[in-house]
Amino acid sequence: MAQIDGLPPLSDVIRNHELSAKKSLGQNFLLDLNLTAKIARQAGDLSGCDVLEVGPGPGGLTRGLLAEGARRVLAVEKDPRCLPALAEITAAYPGQLQVIEGDALEINPLEHLTPPIRVAANLPYNVGTELLVRWLTPKDWPPFWQSLTLMFQREVAERIVAAPGSKKYGRLALLAQWRADARIVMELPPEAFVPAPKVHSAVVHLTALEKPRFEADAAVLSRVVGAAFNQRRKMLRAALKVVGPEIEDHLRAAGIPPTERAEQVSLEAFCALAREIARS
Ligand code: SAM
Repeated sequence: MAQIDGLPPLSDVIRNHELSAKKSLGQNFLLDLNLTAKIARQAGDLSGCDVLEVGPGPGGLTRGLLAEGARRVLAVEKDPRCLPALAEITAAYPGQLQVIEGDALEINPLEHLTPPIRVAANLPYNVGTELLVRWLTPKDWPPFWQSLTLMFQREVAERIVAAPGSKKYGRLALLAQWRADARIVMELPPEAFVPAPKVHSAVVHLTALEKPRFEADAAVLSRVVGAAFNQRRKMLRAALKVVGPEIEDHLRAAGIPPTERAEQVSLEAFCALAREIARS
């Protein structure tokens, strides 16, 4: 196996620092540095970018990002056991890696990053979707990031890139495709991880568009598609009752038959509905 840096193999790092994987933290580690370098390459040209990484763990993807030439990496890790292993990487790449111990859901990384910024992560499954939705739904656009390169369970990755009418089409597809281009760039079998999870995984690459495909308020759109797909088998006039008593009027004004089901409705029509609701 080709060396990507002068640091010890990840299996040694894990053994030396006794990093037995914790299920509660969604820990499934990547140990093949050629694979982590390949994932890092999917993030695009990193040379002039700061990279935000969530959950570096023993540092496999972190080392991939640095070996692929990232200007700086800011890594946010919740598990303090990983910090000594990450400190060895910081020492090998002086001034290029900053590690923050903490919960990515609570930390604001922006004060430590300089644009342009890309995000790359083998996300902990328990917080991955929550983080993605946050990154996709800021009030203002473009967001702080240029691109997101994220590992998910394959099932979640397929929901992000799903087209209208498909069973997997829902809130994640709409929010991702509203203001970004999203595609699956790699698939990984369970054996790529230690310990092996029960499911396949996939890397999704999202590029932020300059402006949204259709105008809408992020909070209203997010609430509407959340409610619509929460009861996806119901007609929209029933599923969206929670949004307000005038929902049938809003649906008609947006050109959506109130008897339609959510998975038949296009992104453009959902954005029109969000505008109608915001106007009222
Ligand atoms: N990046 C490493 C790799 O590819 O081998 C580890 C990936 S592992 C799937 C997820 C990592 O996220 C773990 O190191 C875990 O401790 C960390 N983690 C879990 N929840 C977190 C949170 N809320 N904030 C930051 N890190 C978290």
